[in-house]
Amino acid sequence: MERRPIHQLSQSLVNRIAAGEVIERPASVVKELIENSIDAGATHIVVEVEDGGRELIRVIDDGSGINADELPLAFASHATSKLVSDEDLFAIHTMGFRGEALASIGSVSHARILSRTSDSDAAYEIFNRGGEIGDIQAAAGNVGTTIDVRRLFFNTPARRKFLKASSTEFSYISEAVMRTALPNPEVSFKLSHNSRVVLDLPKTDQHSRLLAAWPDEFREQQLPIQTRDAEIMMRGIIGTPELARPSQRYQYFFLNGRPVRDKFIQHAVRESFRGLTEPGRYPAAILLVSMPRAGC
Ligand code: ADP
Ligand code: MG
Repeated sequence: MERRPIHQLSQSLVNRIAAGEVIERPASVVKELIENSIDAGATHIVVEVEDGGRELIRVIDDGSGINADELPLAFASHATSKLVSDEDLFAIHTMGFRGEALASIGSVSHARILSRTSDSDAAYEIFNRGGEIGDIQAAAGNVGTTIDVRRLFFNTPARRKFLKASSTEFSYISEAVMRTALPNPEVSFKLSHNSRVVLDLPKTDQHSRLLAAWPDEFREQQLPIQTRDAEIMMRGIIGTPELARPSQRYQYFFLNGRPVRDKFIQHAVRESFRGLTEPGRYPAAILLVSMPRAGC
């Protein structure tokens, strides 16, 4: 076979390949966008979805906004405001830090950022159509950021084909919103699908927010937990043994506000219910573990 020379991939192809890893389905877009809103200090986050995210994903926040001149960078890969020095990598206190999400999303969709900072009189917008980034333009908008994502996976047919029914994709989205909302009770979340409000979580205290993921019929059967061992703190709620289910649907674990899937925690929960639940059942539990970050 004839040997072809090595050459550097174009930036848009690099971003599209990277998108293949982080942006698996509409719910991944929602997760990345709302985590950005949290990082920007938002107190109200509205998520609007049409057709399971195929038609539209829109996230509106009242966070810090992005300066007009930085808008093109927000869509650039490896561009972030969250890490400045090498040391910062060991003391991360934001959800994001790789500077890759918006570049990836923009490379596989038609996306728009509309943003206004509190010291600006006007909002500005910028479009990214599958990696083609337009010019910064003045627009109307409140302080905060709105990101629209349309035509997701228009240029990656394999991903588009792999998407499930709109109701299934929406259920993943709603899970992603719930997972982000649980450890952030000081932020209100509203999620709608095809203009119908599906989740409406006003700002509240931590315990009440956790109950949002606790089915009503479980209400009477919950034990609040608050415990600490040296510098490790754990809060949350666990269900009585009757609530144990054959799936992990009612198990949520968080470490310092990040959702985690951890075999060790799962095992510890199961062990503590040993003899009380049938084998193969998972106790209902929402646990928020916090510990000092490395380097603090
Ligand atoms: P990361 O979150 O890893 O920094 P992203 O690609 O998700 O990377 O975002 C790039 C940058 O765009 C962020 O570092 C932040 O400065 C800015 N940004 C993104 N979303 C928002 C938002 N909702 N509000 C304010 N700034 C944002
Ligand atoms: Mg991010």
